[in-house]
Amino acid sequence: MINRRKWITRLGITLGASAYFKSAETLGATVAPSEGSTRAPGVSLALTDYEPRTMLHVKETRVERSRFPAVDIHTHISLSTKSENGIELAAARKYLGRPDELLPVMDRKNLRAMVNLTGGYGDGLVDVVTKYDKAYPGRFYSFTEPSYERFLDPKYPLIQAEAIERAHRDGAKGLKILKTLGLYLREDITSGKLVRIDDPRFDPMWDTCGQLNMPVAIHVSDPIAFFTPTDRFNERYEELNQHPDWSFHGRDFPSNAELLEARNRVFAKHPKTQFLVLHVGNFSEDLDNVSENLARFPNMTVDIAARIGELGRQPRRSRKFFDQYQDRILFGTDATPHGDEFPQQVFNDLLYEIYFRFLETDDEYFDYAPAKVPPQGRWKIYGIRLPDSILEKVYNRNAARLLSIKV
Ligand SMILES: [Zn+2]
Repeated sequence: MINRRKWITRLGITLGASAYFKSAETLGATVAPSEGSTRAPGVSLALTDYEPRTMLHVKETRVERSRFPAVDIHTHISLSTKSENGIELAAARKYLGRPDELLPVMDRKNLRAMVNLTGGYGDGLVDVVTKYDKAYPGRFYSFTEPSYERFLDPKYPLIQAEAIERAHRDGAKGLKILKTLGLYLREDITSGKLVRIDDPRFDPMWDTCGQLNMPVAIHVSDPIAFFTPTDRFNERYEELNQHPDWSFHGRDFPSNAELLEARNRVFAKHPKTQFLVLHVGNFSEDLDNVSENLARFPNMTVDIAARIGELGRQPRRSRKFFDQYQDRILFGTDATPHGDEFPQQVFNDLLYEIYFRFLETDDEYFDYAPAKVPPQGRWKIYGIRLPDSILEKVYNRNAARLLSIKV
């Protein structure tokens, strides 16, 4: 740690070329360079060029296969062919990875099944189920999604509930809600006032899922840093600077707390519907909050997708969380075939090995994503070494129960 701190004080670090940093562009620029440095005093280094290499000598364990057969409850194998202002608007699917590309990786990693959350609806869903679920039984499961393009029809609540029944007949295992609800869907679909997560027009949809025993995988809100200014204090500055459209700070966006409250009202109103709250209940920065909600709502479970960067930098709190809620935490990654742009969720061997290392070892200070620079924030993670009894539940038993499948 000393090495790292020395580096930071000795190098002048410039935080990108953003207009946010007119007066405070250079940090530490007046500090003298270290002995032997080739840099002149006061010369700054762009943060984007900074790739520190750890000097720590620590244990490195390679976990090539999960200790128990795993179900990845959170993947994206197909997407809508048309999307506008964050809202998917077509039943037709585009495919991100063919089964013959995915299966060899799955076999190498001990991945029994992938759950494709973005299976769509209507004929698009039928196509997905035919090409994956039915062609490779037990290896792929697909979820359906709401068809928001019919939102303006006065009969939408009924239409959407019936669409869930059809999707169930067509083979969907559950319903996926993207953060569209609460952050993108508006009264005129792509314009107007934002529609709240607990809008009663969706009540028949939630109830139908409950009646058909279809869990709802729901993504609400986003990392808390996305709701604060993209400035020098933002721990995800580089990520937001690269993807400015991911910021929900300002404009007419609700706060993170308002989004979670609206979500919680849905859980309370539909106790017979199971909600799988993605990304550690969408508040992995505050495991006390997630724990309180799990205690409050027996119909809530969570996955860990794309959040080992958060869990792994608070390993002791995370370990307690897994101990306490071992029956309600599911293995998931957000894996996206060929999603190289987002290394924290790219479907490949390395990504899975990082997840297994986090869950199964007590290794220290390692990357949470297969990337040169940590993509979500500049920190590293620590393994939590779960015992076999918890690992088996997280890898497959909890998923098998939620999806009513055999693993
Ligand atoms: Zn996802």
